[in-house]
Amino acid sequence: MRICAKMRCGVEPAVTVSLVYAERVVVIGDLVDPPDPGRLDLCRRHAEAMTPPVGWTIRDARAPGAA
Ligand SMILES: [Zn+2]
Repeated sequence: MRICAKMRCGVEPAVTVSLVYAERVVVIGDLVDPPDPGRLDLCRRHAEAMTPPVGWTIRDARAPGAA
């Protein structure tokens, strides 16, 4: 079973987060299947609470209505 990447969370992830280093963008997207080891799976709560590194921006790329 897949779980949120946050330590001690253990909740089933709702989104997959990708870091685009070239653009300094944190992309929040729909959960990828199969899991991509280069990306982070996060539950909805941790995705909403996520703060980008300094100098980075967050882009929400989730499909409309997917929630
Ligand atoms: Zn979580």
